[in-house]
Amino acid sequence: MSLVPDLEQYSKMTLPSEADFTAARRRRIELVQQHMDQSYVDSLVLTLGADMPWLIGYEAMPLERVTALVMPRGGRPTLVVPKLEAPRVRHFDDMFTIEPWAESEDPFRLIADLVGTGAGRVGVSERTWASWLIRLQSELPNTTYIDSSEVTGDIRSVKDDLEIMMLRLAAEAADRVADTLMAGFVTFKGRSERQISKLISEMLVDEGHSKVNFAIVGSGPNSASPHHEPGDRVIEIGDAVVCDFGGTFGIREEPGYCSDTTRTFCIGEANQEFLRLYDVLHRAQLKSTASAISGVDLSAVDAAARDEIDSEGLGEYFVHRVGHGIGLEEHELPYLAPHSVGVLKSGHAFSVEPGIYLPGRFGARIEDIVVATNDGPQSLNVSNRSLVCLDR
Ligand code: ZN
Ligand code: ZN
Repeated sequence: MSLVPDLEQYSKMTLPSEADFTAARRRRIELVQQHMDQSYVDSLVLTLGADMPWLIGYEAMPLERVTALVMPRGGRPTLVVPKLEAPRVRHFDDMFTIEPWAESEDPFRLIADLVGTGAGRVGVSERTWASWLIRLQSELPNTTYIDSSEVTGDIRSVKDDLEIMMLRLAAEAADRVADTLMAGFVTFKGRSERQISKLISEMLVDEGHSKVNFAIVGSGPNSASPHHEPGDRVIEIGDAVVCDFGGTFGIREEPGYCSDTTRTFCIGEANQEFLRLYDVLHRAQLKSTASAISGVDLSAVDAAARDEIDSEGLGEYFVHRVGHGIGLEEHELPYLAPHSVGVLKSGHAFSVEPGIYLPGRFGARIEDIVVATNDGPQSLNVSNRSLVCLDR
């Protein structure tokens, strides 16, 4: 029997077909090429990062042999890929051409030929190894290089229906993990943070994630460290425990979308001070989510949480932005921070995750993934946000 749950039964959604993914990718290529045309970018050289899987469904291996999708302003892109990795590539029929390079060949010569010496402006993935860019610059010295996310970033940040469905499936799987923790099926007391982190990781996989990206467990004073690395500390009665976990969720061979959710628990009874802190935090999280209406400033979604926490005199203990975009990557555009520039668009998918941390004592965070729609904000995570105290 498969451990992977029956997704259609859980989500009550008809899963997208291979043809749906292909159609979505065609649209994205068209949109990106239109934008290249408008912004006078002659070619994109996409290597590591999410742009390549977003456009063609193939993810480059993060190794020293370069893989690059060379995308012209018009016409079919070409995937330059090490010959030994070419058998991993799917969907190359009429959407893109594949150009495998042998060990005896110079891939940068190949990429430069595809880009052409007449290229004025070329966008390169921000994750491109510096050594690769230096090689490309020596092949095409008269070209101006820009960050390819100047072209792809805004387009990729607005999720299409298929992507929202994938994010919803990921969030539902993460919610099932949160629900299991809240139901008290896992004993926290007497176990180390690392042990709980391992259990959460196993549960993420059991619920259908193909990969675990992180499972933060911060207990007692460690709950006041937002990115705490789970360690040997043994959880005891009276602790606050922040559990922030996420992974990559895919169907079939398609590149997966990310989940990311946080719930904070108390073990035994919570003290009055923590209850008050949690109450403020819960209100701030709800207000921030409710404020996420298409057309508002990105910074206003941050301010909705920050103002609430500030008004209770706890502002100095909210030490990070309220959220980040999410998609094929855990953190991507748009970022929702005090100084973010730009407005929220329908289709933006992002976390709403205020936290309040009293150094050396305790902290709490509540995090959901939210999508801005024309009908207002929709939280993809729906598991209980009220404080749950576990008796073991
Ligand atoms: Zn998180
Ligand atoms: Zn997050």
